[in-house]
Amino acid sequence: MLNIVVCVKAVPDPKDSCKISIDPVSKTLNRCDVSMVLNPLDKNAMEAALQLKEQYGAHITVLSMGPPQASPIVKECLALGGDQGFLLSDRAFGGADTYATAFTLASGIKKVGKPDIILCGMASSDGATEWVGPQIATFLDMPVVTMLKEIVNSAGDCWQVKTSLEDGYRLLEVDLPALFTVTRDLNEPRALSFSGIIKARKKEITVWGKEDLGVPEESLGLPGSPTIVSDMTTTDNKREVEIITGSREEMADQLLLKLVDAGAI
Ligand SMILES: Cc1cc2nc3c(=O)[nH]c(=O)nc-3n(C[C@H](O)[C@H](O)[C@H](O)COP(=O)(O)OP(=O)(O)OC[C@H]3O[C@@H](n4cnc5c(N)ncnc54)[C@H](O)[C@@H]3O)c2cc1C
Repeated sequence: MLNIVVCVKAVPDPKDSCKISIDPVSKTLNRCDVSMVLNPLDKNAMEAALQLKEQYGAHITVLSMGPPQASPIVKECLALGGDQGFLLSDRAFGGADTYATAFTLASGIKKVGKPDIILCGMASSDGATEWVGPQIATFLDMPVVTMLKEIVNSAGDCWQVKTSLEDGYRLLEVDLPALFTVTRDLNEPRALSFSGIIKARKKEITVWGKEDLGVPEESLGLPGSPTIVSDMTTTDNKREVEIITGSREEMADQLLLKLVDAGAI
């Protein structure tokens, strides 16, 4: 039976994006009134784990680092078919950059027990650095395959997989245990089922803080982060609209002139 860990991140609900602001002093994001949802690509990671479970049998551990508000997204993954859920949550983890985030997640994975497969999204919808997966693999000293788009052969301990390239794919062979970051091409995430939601009610989420991980406090959160945000600003995304009127031919002529004037064609 495969032992799989899926790393899932709680990200701001896009419909609340207008409520996110930048703290002018700390240069961090204020997300107080923002509801959190499961990072979209982590749904693909979760779906990959569920398909492997259906094919070979697997034990799926869902792992997230975040504030207590991240707990519902772990529950959601348990409702999809995850077997156990862990939330790494402690004030000491706050202000972590990707390095400290990956270190904390890797410490959690070591404590859960080193898995055969770790699945992450390729990127989060808020930070989108794409670094956390490769950094976890580095801390755990295991191979990493990024941008997974197809699992060609998953029988045995040496997998054959395809990863995305801008204009094609790369065919790779990788020995397990390994970490994969997944793209949306990999699968179509399933919807939550009513029976899954009912079953998940009985599944507990274990919350671990800094003492549980047993790692030095200076390697966590802001003190453990080698990068700092020295400035952050918003861009003005205002767009102007001009309605063109007239017959179809007149509108087409006007549009053509405007595009030529703007240097677009
Ligand atoms: C100096 C600095 C300070 C920061 N301070 C803060 C802060 O105060 N508050 C704050 O909220 N953010 C802060 N951040 C952002 C924070 O570092 C990122 O949210 C975090 O490191 C994840 O990076 P990412 O979103 O780019 O992940 P990516 O690498 O784009 O994510 C890829 C995948 O990694 C996994 N993953 C990523 N993060 C998690 C997670 N937390 N739990 C489980 N899986 C995960 C998921 O599978 C995800 O799909 C800070 C960043 C920097 C550089």
